[in-house]
Amino acid sequence: MNVSAPAPLAALDSLASPAADRPEWIWRSGRLVLWEQAQIHVNAVGHASTAAVFEGIKAYRADDGRLLLFRLDEHLRRLSDSARICRLDLPYTLSELRAAVFELLRGNGYREDAYVRPWAFPSGLIREQMVPAGSVCEVVIDSWPFRSRLDTGRGCRAGVSSWQRISDAAMPPRVKAFSNYHNGRLAMMEAQENGHDWPILLNERHKVSEGPGACIALVRNGTVITPSLTSGVLESITRDTVLRLLEESGEPVIEREVDRSELYLADELFFMGTAWEILPITSVDGLQVGAGRPGSVTQRLAAEYTRLVRGRSGRHADWLTEVPR
Ligand code: PMP
Repeated sequence: MNVSAPAPLAALDSLASPAADRPEWIWRSGRLVLWEQAQIHVNAVGHASTAAVFEGIKAYRADDGRLLLFRLDEHLRRLSDSARICRLDLPYTLSELRAAVFELLRGNGYREDAYVRPWAFPSGLIREQMVPAGSVCEVVIDSWPFRSRLDTGRGCRAGVSSWQRISDAAMPPRVKAFSNYHNGRLAMMEAQENGHDWPILLNERHKVSEGPGACIALVRNGTVITPSLTSGVLESITRDTVLRLLEESGEPVIEREVDRSELYLADELFFMGTAWEILPITSVDGLQVGAGRPGSVTQRLAAEYTRLVRGRSGRHADWLTEVPR
């Protein structure tokens, strides 16, 4: 048998993300290690990814140079909630994880915005297909530069997927587990095949749930409407941020089940998530949304979100955690 040599790490990596995005350091099991040295045995990869839970956190650079983590504690709490539902034992307290995120961001010395991804997976070599409950976890925190597109007036085309959103009765979407993204990935590939940018998934009751990496809201007659937290969605921190901003400024907002056909009558539609930020949807299943441009409510929310995450707003300083220098 002719077995070809495995591709070198650098060659494989270049397929996935630009080498320039590779940080110097990654945080692993209590300390910074050089990125190249953060390896695990190939036999551990399968179970590590099946049972892994993670978070996606953004650090924004403020005008005065401070690096501000947006709603860090809420993200770390959700990591701990995901681990609890999956019965994984996180070996670190939230304050230890907080300190680890600081250590990593300081170590990598970012001058721009950065994305931070802590993840937890059962450590060591487990040969059982089903990782047992109570397995001890390793925690790794990765990070990379992230270009915010909040100010670009971008929009995207969305299409309702023929793939159904995973349900709480099978694979709870409330858990931020890598395995759940198999569902979103199938939907994403189908959407792109059909000429859209992103899919919108319906749940088992055929109601609107979310996109593969963000929650969704629509605006109709001036009211913002978003699927409830029992619609098969991740308990999104951006969604919570948007709802809080609207409520505080006295604007109407409703959380409830949303029908597919409501998407077609919306004046505005947008995705919301840490990585996608506030992303306007300009067409759905080929139907133009509103005027085919980001609508006024979406634009206002995106502008307020920008002010907030960059520390320019007087509101919610408690949502920002400065990375100590
Ligand atoms: N839904 C899914 C499936 C996601 O992956 C994300 C991104 N974390 C969101 C919603 C948005 O969540 P958040 O606002 O907390 O980033």
